[in-house]
Amino acid sequence: MLEPSLLSRPDPTAPHVSDLTRKLGPALLQASLPDAAEKIGLFGRWWCEPQTGQWVLSTGAANLLDVNAGLHRTGNSCFEQVVPDDVLRLMAALREPGQAVECEFRIINEFDGLRWLRLVSEPLRLPGPSVQTGVVVDVTSSRLAAMRERFCFESTQFLIGTPTLGEAVTKVIQLVCDNLGWECGAYWSLEQQQMGDHRLACKYQWHQPDYPLASFRRQSATLRLAPGEGLVGNVWSTMRPAWVEDMVNGTDFLRCQSAHECGLQSGYAFPVSYVTDGGRRHSHGVLEFYSSLSRQREAQLPSLATTIGALIAQTVQRLEQQELIRQLAQVDDLTGLANRKHFHHLLDAACLSATSSGASFAVLNIDLDRFKQINDAFGHEAGNLVLHDFAQRLQRLDLPGCAVGRLGGDEFAILVTPAGSIAQLQALGERVLLAARQPFLFERQELTVSASVGVSIFPDNGWTGSELMRSADAAMYRRKHGGRNGLSFFSSGTAGTLAEQRSALARQLTMEAELQHALVSDEFFLVYQPVFGRDAEHMVAVEALIRWRRPGGDVVPPDVFIPVAEQSGLIVQIGRWVVKRACHDLALLQRAGFKDLQVNVNMAAPEFVNARLPAELMAVVEACGVAPQHLCLELTEGLVMKQPDKVIPVMAALRQLGFKISLDDFGMGHSSLSRMKNLPISSLKIDRSFVSGLPHDRGDGAIVRTILDLGRHMKLQVIAEGVETDAQLIYLRQFGCSLIQGFLLGRPKTVSELMAAHSQSTNEQATP
Ligand code: C2E
Ligand code: MG
Ligand code: MG
Repeated sequence: MLEPSLLSRPDPTAPHVSDLTRKLGPALLQASLPDAAEKIGLFGRWWCEPQTGQWVLSTGAANLLDVNAGLHRTGNSCFEQVVPDDVLRLMAALREPGQAVECEFRIINEFDGLRWLRLVSEPLRLPGPSVQTGVVVDVTSSRLAAMRERFCFESTQFLIGTPTLGEAVTKVIQLVCDNLGWECGAYWSLEQQQMGDHRLACKYQWHQPDYPLASFRRQSATLRLAPGEGLVGNVWSTMRPAWVEDMVNGTDFLRCQSAHECGLQSGYAFPVSYVTDGGRRHSHGVLEFYSSLSRQREAQLPSLATTIGALIAQTVQRLEQQELIRQLAQVDDLTGLANRKHFHHLLDAACLSATSSGASFAVLNIDLDRFKQINDAFGHEAGNLVLHDFAQRLQRLDLPGCAVGRLGGDEFAILVTPAGSIAQLQALGERVLLAARQPFLFERQELTVSASVGVSIFPDNGWTGSELMRSADAAMYRRKHGGRNGLSFFSSGTAGTLAEQRSALARQLTMEAELQHALVSDEFFLVYQPVFGRDAEHMVAVEALIRWRRPGGDVVPPDVFIPVAEQSGLIVQIGRWVVKRACHDLALLQRAGFKDLQVNVNMAAPEFVNARLPAELMAVVEACGVAPQHLCLELTEGLVMKQPDKVIPVMAALRQLGFKISLDDFGMGHSSLSRMKNLPISSLKIDRSFVSGLPHDRGDGAIVRTILDLGRHMKLQVIAEGVETDAQLIYLRQFGCSLIQGFLLGRPKTVSELMAAHSQSTNEQATP
């Protein structure tokens, strides 16, 4: 007979006396322990006869396995609460007669949730057919400890390794569900609503793939909860975990209908929070888990909740910091567009993927025209506003799949994927040009720019990012040189232009350095070309023309180096040197007998946008002892028309002080007659390209006559320059041009040549 304590919960279906119990009688008595020991040790004993498949369970074993104690005719009835996946493993382990058994398996029930048991056999030699015996032990707590450790390790791996919060959190939810036997889980966090207030929204969900959960997922995804509302809102506000023991019939669970449809019964939600450096707890979100079992409160998930919450919170912080770093590394501060480095990275990636897929894409290189002038005239704030607003306009072009970047300064780029047809690219380019042309409003002032756009296409114009960028760049420069505010596609001819531009740039940089040196080393000198009055005998003025004698002795004409000096800004210093030297020489000439002689000095744009120019020139003429009326400043029409708002007030101030101003190369610019009327000038200089066609070219003749008429009506003196022939001189005289400059009457000379010529002529006059 079995020891009574072992049969305290007899199986009604089992026969009271069996072969096994008979066999076990004395051994059972011998091996029996009091119930208390099994209870305290969380273990139970079992006996099994492999031949008949009969089992006997002690009370302790029966309690652990959640079945009846005593005789079981089959092993199956002993293990009916074991998780199905584990039953097969267990049976396989027991099938080996005479072998020691050691197997861990899971039991799941409504009250205790998931528990782990270990079944171990102990050697027992009984006479007759063999009987196996052993113990079954509850190893849930050590399993949980190990699992907690593994869980922390695995989730840390996920949280560190995954690039997005969604991916990391979803994996953690899956880990919890798989290990602790929950059906589904979700993560909630705050979301800003259209009205500006905040609601909790379900951001990420996961459920066991074979569990039908569609309606519960749908309801979770559409639900928005105010803090304090429902289970999730409550956990968020209180920052305390909470159980739902009855999702369907409980009063405070809002998704009861869909929970019912999906057969969910109970759940647990807890805050995902961390403690800040200042000791304040900060909430990031709420995690919730649900089960189809009506699970009572158990220690497994709560014991992990704090760890999970902290890990996810740390990940959120890490990802937020990464995002900040990404922003700093990839985004242009001023415009929010991709910065140069990131744009090139995107471009390289596009090349790689297009090379393998055989797709095509295009690059638009966009450069704002006249941006520098806006910066110079209105300051950097205005410049920044133009760049920022233009970037916004580019973003509003709404180009799905395309990347927009700022490459630096006023240079932007668009990566167009897929390239589309030439007509489509052309249309896109037009939209970009229009975006640039719309005025920008800065402190109630309308600023206008335009853009030059160059387009290159993969793979026709380059296989790599840098080749494509170079091609788009070359196309853009071609556009700039061919007249701005337009679009150019790269063509092989452009490449030559680019190479030329490069060497031109190198030449320019070298020359800049040389010019700087020339100023210090006094390599510049002036020559003076006479301007004659009506009688062609009387020199009324001289035009100062700069020359550069290089260390080797070559004399460089101004057309070569003045443009370089203008671009580098050196022209301001050079111009000041010219004025000082010209005034100094004028004083010499006047003292030498050229009474009332006037000197004409050419001025460049950067010199003239300086409001202090009148005072500075006044100081120069005073220092040299010449009258301002004897200094005439020659400006080109283009210079005045480019920045009239800045230049005209300076001109007016100069005129006020008595200086004269002449419009040089007149007829070549685009002066509007209405503006001409109000210009504070004293003379016009007909460009020599019109003089050269005289007297036969009817067009040139008409222009020259019109300019002479204009001068008469506006009471301005008119000078004709570049007069090389008698026929030209006669024609000009005939139509009333009184002031003549040109090789016919006098080539540019140095001061000493002028003085020598003068003393010779006075000597000739003195000699009878
Ligand atoms: P510009 O002010 O129109 O000067 C007149 C130019 O025409 C001078 O050339 C002069 O030598 C040339 N010229 C005069 N008469 C004749 C003629 O009958 N036939 C021909 N073929 N040419 C004639 P240059 O000295 O080479 O000066 C070229 C330009 O360089 C000047 O044009 C002026 O714009 C600029 N430049 C000269 N000196 C200075 C200066 O000190 N400062 C600035 N900013 N520019 C200067
Ligand atoms: Mg001139
Ligand atoms: Mg000229």
